[in-house]
Amino acid sequence: MANSAEITLEQIQDFKGKYPKQLWYLFFIEMWERFCFYGNRGMLTVFMVDVLLLSDKSANLKYGAIQAFVYAFTFIGGLFADKILGFQKSLLWGGILMITGSVVLGISAHNYFYYGICLLIIGTGFFKPNISTMVGELYKEGDARRDAGFGLFYAGINVGALFGGAICVYVGKMYSWDVAFLLSGGFMILGLATFLVTKSKLGPIGLPPATSNPSTAKRNQWMVYAGSILILPCIYLMITNTRYTDIFMYVIGPATLIYLIYEMLKLGWEENKKMLAALVFILLSILFWAFFEQSGGSLSLFAKDNLHTDLFFFNMDPNVVNNSSNSLFVVLFSPLIGLLWIWMKKRKIEPNYFVKFGMAFLFLGGAFYVFYVNRFFADADGKTSLLVFTAAYFVITLAELLLSPIGLSLMTKLSPKKLWGVMMGLWFLASAYGQYVAGILGAGMASPDDNASASVKLDLYTEGYHQLAIYGIITGIVVIIAAPFLKKLMKNVE
Ligand code: GLN
Repeated sequence: MANSAEITLEQIQDFKGKYPKQLWYLFFIEMWERFCFYGNRGMLTVFMVDVLLLSDKSANLKYGAIQAFVYAFTFIGGLFADKILGFQKSLLWGGILMITGSVVLGISAHNYFYYGICLLIIGTGFFKPNISTMVGELYKEGDARRDAGFGLFYAGINVGALFGGAICVYVGKMYSWDVAFLLSGGFMILGLATFLVTKSKLGPIGLPPATSNPSTAKRNQWMVYAGSILILPCIYLMITNTRYTDIFMYVIGPATLIYLIYEMLKLGWEENKKMLAALVFILLSILFWAFFEQSGGSLSLFAKDNLHTDLFFFNMDPNVVNNSSNSLFVVLFSPLIGLLWIWMKKRKIEPNYFVKFGMAFLFLGGAFYVFYVNRFFADADGKTSLLVFTAAYFVITLAELLLSPIGLSLMTKLSPKKLWGVMMGLWFLASAYGQYVAGILGAGMASPDDNASASVKLDLYTEGYHQLAIYGIITGIVVIIAAPFLKKLMKNVE
């Protein structure tokens, strides 16, 4: 029996059963990281409005900008991991920065808000894409169990998101924002500790790329660490001034595409067809997240101002429901969706990936229709049903399950291994654009009048959701119609 320190990639990938045991380690590491991430995310808009006294409109825009940077840096983190650090070192560095960010916020979220957020942005950039790529490495090319692996990993993400999102906003609103931010960092420490304890079991997965010149490689690694600190003031400038965010977003996308074209020129036509398919999925996901991410922005403010607190027999804080119901539904329903695909595959009726993405948009549109319909349950004070709101989250979760875990898996199926980090980063860069647009959409729905009544806010937000419903459904129909043609790009990919 080989010592775990010497475990080889072949031994890891030759696992018996449904999941490799390393998947469970990555599951728990990511669970704690998402606890921290969603804890912070769920507090952002409420904190900005209630404590920093920003208007709804600015809070929506700032939320979009912060989240856009978080996800944009995953592209950069993925790139540096591929070329210089390797995934393991990236994870460690990212985790340390995230913990530091939470501590800075914990000292005084009111005074040091943007400093803490800058650290969280860089930290998540190094952490998030690379752990997802490591999941892909557990499987041999063509291993049919890969999607199920990503499905389980996605459930881990959401266990963390569920508790982080609920507990942090609750502690923040009821007790102290500083403690709530600190708490999120505490859970990141658990994530990092899990990583350090299980690291040796990952064998060669995530080690830095092989090099013929170790001293140059070491120097480059130190330069990445130093560079990520030196860039902090620039990020500070960009998030505090949304005009710079705009410039950043206009530059990073095209620059990335140019880089990708440069990489694609080195590939053959068959590989490039798959890369094109990956790009279509990435483009679709931008639109998807732009709608979906209302959840941390406008829906968070909608929950704060426009919802009753009774859900069945319980009295619930609507922001806690807003931050955790989606994750709860993911955890409950992702195994069922996995079983559904297996059932359909056996009968040869499983829809192809493009149809699944199209269906995701239909559900997304359907969910926003339910958010819209909630206006008809409102009372004279502009407060409406928490139950209908939660039902909409159920529908939006079905949409997410048809797109998000599948997207992660597809990035590692459709690209050559040396580009996995970049492609995973690109998948998340699409989320960055989605987040950015989400903020703009949310701000467009927010009332320009800071003192608007809850009824006015209700009308404006729900009318916005009505529009999103219509565009979501139209996109779904177009993608499903185009699916048979697009499918040809990924001939042998199951
Ligand atoms: N909810 C998922 C996660 O946190 C997907 C997020 C995204 O890609 N925008 O990992």
